[in-house]
Amino acid sequence: MRRYRSPVDAKVALLAWYDREARDLPWRRTRDPYAIVVAEFMLQQTTVRRVTEKWRPFLDRFPTWSALAKAAPGAAIDAWRGLGYNRRALRLRELALEVMDRGGTLPQEPDALRRLPGVGTYTVSAIRAFVLGHDVATIDVNLRRVLGRWLFGREGVRDREVAAAAQAILPPGQAKEWNQALMDIGATICGVRAPRCLLCPIHPECRWAASEKIHRDDRSAGRRQGRFAGSSRQVRGRIVDLLRDHFPEPLSRAAAIERVKDALVVDSASVEAALLSLVRDGLVEDRVGPDTDLLVLPAARSPERKAQLGFRGR
Ligand code: SF4
Repeated sequence: MRRYRSPVDAKVALLAWYDREARDLPWRRTRDPYAIVVAEFMLQQTTVRRVTEKWRPFLDRFPTWSALAKAAPGAAIDAWRGLGYNRRALRLRELALEVMDRGGTLPQEPDALRRLPGVGTYTVSAIRAFVLGHDVATIDVNLRRVLGRWLFGREGVRDREVAAAAQAILPPGQAKEWNQALMDIGATICGVRAPRCLLCPIHPECRWAASEKIHRDDRSAGRRQGRFAGSSRQVRGRIVDLLRDHFPEPLSRAAAIERVKDALVVDSASVEAALLSLVRDGLVEDRVGPDTDLLVLPAARSPERKAQLGFRGR
């Protein structure tokens, strides 16, 4: 692994900057593990601004692991409105069921955390750093960019190298502040296209700034998000939104398809394909009967599961 020096001064400057400039995000003010994990699930693929709007209403509806575990899958999807990537709502509810199976607490060991529904490498480190208080570096796309520029003078550094470097410079006992400080640098100063190095507390020790790469990186510019309009993701989202508007009532399949076609100006085949994938992912139920063909968000809980969790009669 490439060697780098420990930038002690930059660490002090970064924490002092965070003390002054930290973004005031509501989930940073709570110590409730459930509330923090809900935020982390939302933040996986949704902007901070949108999560800031949606996090509190979700908690008002499902304030605890237990409340979410007892909810129908469709209710969780319904409460996920506006966040996109609806499968996360199902995974979060599955996680709530798992936590309830464990007596209402998250496991502490990384391997056990990794086996939980919806919990990938980043979320394991986020739970460890922000919920359990472990000295663990969290590496998401923003931190990878900031740390790559700062410590290696470039982007595109291999994950393993960035993770090892991040872990090596982590100030013991300050994982929460440290990771959040780097997140805030990535969000407010060290952006993809135009890092504002002269405002950055890391600037005197940053290899990227020293090499005067304070210009747009062509490789980063090429990595833009794919076109959204007319995409399968947009069609899927529109179908789920339509069913949310009717939840818990079902909607005629034919009517739903026509409305999505008209709204997005896409063909039937695109809507059918998106619908098929939603059914396959468990986000939509397609109820076919002799005279009916209805779509609905998944509403039923398994009676066996309810009994197993002690929900009978509630
Ligand atoms: S000095 Fe510039 S490139 Fe380095 S971390 Fe700060 S904003 Fe990013």
